[in-house]
Amino acid sequence: MLSPWCPNWSRSTGSLLVNLSKTKVMVFRKGGRLKAGTKFSYGEESIEIVNEYVYLGVLFSQKGVFQKAAEMFKKKGIVALASVWKTLFQGKVTSWKSKIRLFESISLSCALYAVQIWGLRYVTKLEEMQAYFYKRLLGVERTVPGYLLRLETASPTFLLKVMKHTLAYWVKLICMDEDSYPKICFNALYKAWRDGSFIRQYNWVARLHTSLEKLGYGNFCHLDNIADIMADIPRILTRIIDTTRQEDVCNMQKSKRHGKYALMWDDELKPAKYLNFDLTYKQLSIIAQMRLNDGRVYHEKFRHVFNLQNSCTLCNLGEEETFQHFICACKIYPNRNRMGVHLNLSNWPQCLRFDNREKCLQLAEFLQLNLRTRRMMIEE
Ligand SMILES: [Zn+2]
Repeated sequence: MLSPWCPNWSRSTGSLLVNLSKTKVMVFRKGGRLKAGTKFSYGEESIEIVNEYVYLGVLFSQKGVFQKAAEMFKKKGIVALASVWKTLFQGKVTSWKSKIRLFESISLSCALYAVQIWGLRYVTKLEEMQAYFYKRLLGVERTVPGYLLRLETASPTFLLKVMKHTLAYWVKLICMDEDSYPKICFNALYKAWRDGSFIRQYNWVARLHTSLEKLGYGNFCHLDNIADIMADIPRILTRIIDTTRQEDVCNMQKSKRHGKYALMWDDELKPAKYLNFDLTYKQLSIIAQMRLNDGRVYHEKFRHVFNLQNSCTLCNLGEEETFQHFICACKIYPNRNRMGVHLNLSNWPQCLRFDNREKCLQLAEFLQLNLRTRRMMIEE
């Protein structure tokens, strides 16, 4: 289509030449190979057919469902995080709020690029990135579930961010001129959805509608009054916060491993208090591991694996070597007598819940000393 035009333009303005090394063709399809002999050419020269192409920063692949784009954005977010870690771990940033802000401004801005277009389908993928960040920030095990991290840090699900961007884009589309390209596409998708003549995974409107229906807002896509649309958006976002929190609490309570967490949890819609105390990374991590891990603690380059099935081999109490045994009972650690009452160590697991920094620091010190002792006993 271009070839009859460009030579004329370039002759008159000297500016428009098609660069064939950068020009590619992509054939969107559900799968399978291209028909043999499929060819595209520009004038005399043929154009390469590719399976994926980055256009305006978004990776398009032949299925057109942005699976690879989501992978790519997740990776970008994690790579961007690498530049943040140094600042975080050298103790330059101690305030919890600043840590989160740093994550959001550097990593999220990369990962959420154009998320209103591709995000709803890949919320789980983005949540993996969020979990990765919190696990490293707290220094806890990889197996700690997402719901527990969200409760500990009072951070909402990623669906909230994705939905915020998507709904804002919806409003933008509604207000766009009818002859703009995004609006033409939107109208076509909308019509197909309304007529029921669509394939769910390829229709953006249908995807949004399904997500909203789950939240009890199935009517949203039918609204045509901008005032009604604007009024619904904050309600939808609040609903997301409420329902995911309920789900997270429910998952925690059902969990055999983490059910006891309820007793250390403040239930206040705020991050756990110790996260706001001015702690070193080591202190913060040891407390976080005791609260969230399950039988394993990483400390001073040593991985302590607690003997959860068998009785503790370090003392003669005959109890399973759980965290509770380690902190509250095991006879091998002599400083418990000195600090036990003060740190409320007979009260498990409430002794891991803190109202003031002083106690938190003392417990961190107590745990560090005992982990060193444990390592010595094991390595002897
Ligand atoms: Zn013991």
